[in-house]
Amino acid sequence: MSSTKNGVHILVFPYPAQGHMLPLLHLTHHLSSRGLSITILITPKNLPILSPLISSNSSIQTLVLPFPTHPSIPPGVENVKDLGNQGNIPMINALTKLQDPIIQWFNSHSNPPVALLSDFFLGWTHHLANQIGIPRLVFYSSGAFAVGVFNHLWVNCEDVKPGCEVNFQDLPWEPSFTWEQVPSLYRRYRESPSVCVELIKNSMVANYLSWASVSNTFEALEGEFLAHLSRAMGHPRVYSVGPLNMVGGSDNEKLDSCNDGVISWLDQWDDGSVLYVCFGSQKLLKKAQMEALAIGLERSGVRFVWVVKPLTAQQVADGYGSVPDGFEERVSGRGFVMKGWAPQTAILGHRGVGGFLSHCGWNSVLEAIMAGVMILGWPMEAEQFVNAKLLVEYKGVAVRVCQGGDTVPNPAELGQKIAESMRGDAMERVRAKEMRNKALEAIRVGGSSNRDLDGLVQELAKLQVKNV
Ligand code: UDP
Repeated sequence: MSSTKNGVHILVFPYPAQGHMLPLLHLTHHLSSRGLSITILITPKNLPILSPLISSNSSIQTLVLPFPTHPSIPPGVENVKDLGNQGNIPMINALTKLQDPIIQWFNSHSNPPVALLSDFFLGWTHHLANQIGIPRLVFYSSGAFAVGVFNHLWVNCEDVKPGCEVNFQDLPWEPSFTWEQVPSLYRRYRESPSVCVELIKNSMVANYLSWASVSNTFEALEGEFLAHLSRAMGHPRVYSVGPLNMVGGSDNEKLDSCNDGVISWLDQWDDGSVLYVCFGSQKLLKKAQMEALAIGLERSGVRFVWVVKPLTAQQVADGYGSVPDGFEERVSGRGFVMKGWAPQTAILGHRGVGGFLSHCGWNSVLEAIMAGVMILGWPMEAEQFVNAKLLVEYKGVAVRVCQGGDTVPNPAELGQKIAESMRGDAMERVRAKEMRNKALEAIRVGGSSNRDLDGLVQELAKLQVKNV
């Protein structure tokens, strides 16, 4: 591990959504351990998320700026988790109003940052950094394949016809996706363009103009797409430093909380015999989907842990569903229904878990890889179809059991696919374990992600020298 002793100061600006923020905070932790002095820009309601990080890293400061008001964001809400996926467009717009306070802070600082590291949903900060006169590094919390897809869509807006299949001939393996599989933020933009979403397009395009990119992925998983990203950005400062939640091992446990009866429940079962079912931090299923999934799990005959989010009265009125009546009694002894937040990394890391029925959110993907657990993919929205293609078609480490955010699976077919995938002899299970070894290799000293972290710190140190 390389360490700078000269206190290179950088500003980190996370995007306030669970899946974006946590990996960037993990990266911040690693940069801080390598000697960097870091200021994290945050709004008041998100400040508690930083507590574990700040308490264990004395070189991390905060810049707390009031959350800017926005007509579509209720007072007191400062995180996308309280708005759902549709909240991204107003959130991105609201945060642009922080530009002036950031410039004021920068101009009045005695030791201002030499670089700005910000999330890819904050592409406008590329221009802000230009204005201040420092380089901007874009942080991609998603994989490099998804980044290539995003970039193609934004840059080639004229050629992409809403409603039609999109071919990505510039990307490795020349993938194509149906319109419904295209990331939802982009579809929403094309289906109802407006001035406020124009800003998002410009912002996304600006990401590729940035001085460097840092992604939560690793060479063995996405080497082809990382090489493509480097060619497209026109320079070698393309760092892949993932899986971030695990780089450095035990230090990161401070950022996770895991404690539940589910672990002792898992203790009683054979290795690799339990299916873990969870669709990330945001997605809720409609009533008919919940019923089909419940019957599918019941018919599969496999043991499972199913994480189900409690619903508000409004969500029930909107047609979202919970576990059907009588289900828990019927599957008692072989099914564990968890209501609320699950300690996902601890569950995936338990020897009893052998499969993960997942929406293929990028954090879930990396956590499954690190646990060597095969994914049974049900991509639903955002860039999840891209992630599923990577895992199922290009890497052969996962199977697809359903797709579509509104799809109601056929319970008998779903049950059969689950049962077949959970048999010990599936090739995907073997390859998932091999991919785990490659991920472990990447984060070891001398491994690709560890080397890239060191390289990133060295490159940032050169900026400090230039400024002296
Ligand atoms: N997660 C968790 N417990 C839950 C649900 C989700 O710990 O009950 C965590 C999961 O480990 C992952 C993140 O929330 O780190 C979900 O991120 P992902 O990118 O998979 O999906 P998203 O929530 O962004 O759709």
